[in-house]
Amino acid sequence: MPMNIAIDGPVGAGKSSIADAVAERLGILHLDTGAMYRAVALYMLRRGIDPQDEAAVSAACEGAGVAVRYEDGRQRTLLCGEDVTDALRTGEVSAAASAVSKWPAVRARMVRAQRELAGTADMLIDGRDIGTNVLTDAPVKIYLTATAEERARRRCLQLREKGTDTPYEQVLRELNARDEQDMRRKTDPLRQAEDAVLVDSTGMTPEQVVERIARIVEDVYGR
Ligand code: C5P
Repeated sequence: MPMNIAIDGPVGAGKSSIADAVAERLGILHLDTGAMYRAVALYMLRRGIDPQDEAAVSAACEGAGVAVRYEDGRQRTLLCGEDVTDALRTGEVSAAASAVSKWPAVRARMVRAQRELAGTADMLIDGRDIGTNVLTDAPVKIYLTATAEERARRRCLQLREKGTDTPYEQVLRELNARDEQDMRRKTDPLRQAEDAVLVDSTGMTPEQVVERIARIVEDVYGR
């Protein structure tokens, strides 16, 4: 059985960067499932399909071939064969990803693909429903969070480093809106699995969080 580590949590909890660091330390791959929903969202935006329109999104998602591949251990996300990795991080795609991921037809396709990938290699998988739905038997489940204010502060810093200055209030508002949509949806909402370990990273440095998670993994897998 491949090694499977599930990390779930709200927007801006640092899942992606923390997961990258932990996976690198363990010498395993990191599957960012959010990128897959983002690719579906990009597909809809490019076709002018309203992400909130369930019937239209459900019909169109048949054509959205999402795949991942790894280059030097890093995930690249493909949409109908095109590498769209660098087009997935805009605010527009974030909001649309949260909207399209509500629809059961989209989730069914993504979940199937994620289970297949997780069965093929040792992987750390991050998302919203990994511990509660995609890999309910994962031996290690982490729910990574921090206060909304801290997550918004970190997001602002990240955006500033990338050269986009977005006001803190706006970042906090968008983050709360996306979390609310993710937690309230009917299909596989974001929540902590009963057997997940809660890691509240408020006030912790990224190194401390990586260390904490690596310890939890070590307790289970002995490495
Ligand atoms: O993790 P990230 O913020 O990139 O995810 C984008 C969106 O994709 C989330 O807001 C959420 O709506 C959706 N998502 C999901 N299930 C996952 C991963 C992401 O519904 N496993």
